[in-house]
Amino acid sequence: KEVGEISLKDIDQVARTSFPLCMQHLFNTLRDDHHLKHGGRMQLGLFLKGVGLKLDDALAFWKTEFSQKVGAERFDKEYAYSIRHNYGKEGKRTDYTPYSCQKIILSTPGVGDHHGCPYRHFSEENLRAALGKMGVSSRALEDVIEKARNRHYQLACTLTFEALHASSCDAGINHPNQYFSDSQKILKE
Ligand code: SF4
Repeated sequence: KEVGEISLKDIDQVARTSFPLCMQHLFNTLRDDHHLKHGGRMQLGLFLKGVGLKLDDALAFWKTEFSQKVGAERFDKEYAYSIRHNYGKEGKRTDYTPYSCQKIILSTPGVGDHHGCPYRHFSEENLRAALGKMGVSSRALEDVIEKARNRHYQLACTLTFEALHASSCDAGINHPNQYFSDSQKILKE
């Protein structure tokens, strides 16, 4: 296994320990609903590519979930293309890059969408519940909520990172894939 490559059998565990809240939310919603709308598929799909999920594993991962909702045949017909597309295997063969925090924060999720940045796009009540589920202590949680309220979304995410890893993140969080790699670095020390 190459460095920075994640395999399907590890994905649930690394999602729990090292995905930022935006990606945990998409990941858990996909597992629960077996579906994500376009914006969510793009945000999570490119992130997963960025953390080193190979194309074949990505296809297997999305197919396992979507098949339970729309059937395997419809998945192959309607959804597999866009996953190969994200990996630069279709269309103009552009190698699409994972979204930065700035891009995610400025996105405008509509009804039924699950993409976006939870520090910006969740109600305070939902944000509190999500952070509690992640394991953020109630003391750290108030600081995170305060930052989110003041529209310092990336700082809120940085404080969440620090609370969950008992470690400082001096550079701050500016990319979900940076959150992931910084987390893995600390957990593997
Ligand atoms: Fe995701 Fe960035 Fe928002 Fe954190 S600050 S939840 S990494 S978009």
